[in-house]
Amino acid sequence: MKIKSAEFVMSNSNVINAPKDRIPEYAFIGRSNVGKSSLINMLMQRKKLAKTSGTPGKTQLINHFKINDEWFLVDLPGYGYAKVSKKKRTIFQYFIENYFNEREQLVCTFVLVDSRHDPQKIDLDFMAFLGKNQIPFCIVFTKADKLPSSKLNKQITTYKRKLLQYWESLPTSFITSSSSGLGRDEFLNFIDEINKDVADKFK
Ligand code: GDP
Repeated sequence: MKIKSAEFVMSNSNVINAPKDRIPEYAFIGRSNVGKSSLINMLMQRKKLAKTSGTPGKTQLINHFKINDEWFLVDLPGYGYAKVSKKKRTIFQYFIENYFNEREQLVCTFVLVDSRHDPQKIDLDFMAFLGKNQIPFCIVFTKADKLPSSKLNKQITTYKRKLLQYWESLPTSFITSSSSGLGRDEFLNFIDEINKDVADKFK
């Protein structure tokens, strides 16, 4: 898929106000600092489409971007930021849960995890939440350039093996690097294929 246009549409804290267009939607989520903004900018080949975190709280909104006038890319807040107070975190979880429960256009969620780390409880809990609610998701391994390739492969194999302790089968996964562009074509082709598959549903 070629990215012909990528435009910011709006930010919301309540899914009720999200854009009404009946087009397929893809959500991006992960722990703060996992590399979500960098990945979105890499995929879209725009330097500052998604704001890189730096300041916690800045991206505590549901951010809609319209791509090629065909699909929505949704940048969701990073979860698990230690400095966010417990009260705020509860509210945050509520509006995120609400997004997943209400958003009919959502066809796939990309759960981003750092290639260097073993599965973290917060990510496993989040995947369990998606599974329980029958929300399709893929895993995106980020920052692949930070490990030499032999270590990277080993780490990802370990990650998948650990996931199989909780899941009967593995979701589709992508290995990406925002620095090198690794995984970009594969990722965009995947979205392209889903867009074709679901086209009838969105007529
Ligand atoms: P977010 O909080 O998930 O949106 O994460 P950011 O995109 O802001 O990235 C967090 C930090 O990781 C920043 O310092 C980025 O420069 C760095 N980073 C993100 N992706 C990559 C990557 O693929 N490779 C490397 N080496 N650094 C990355």
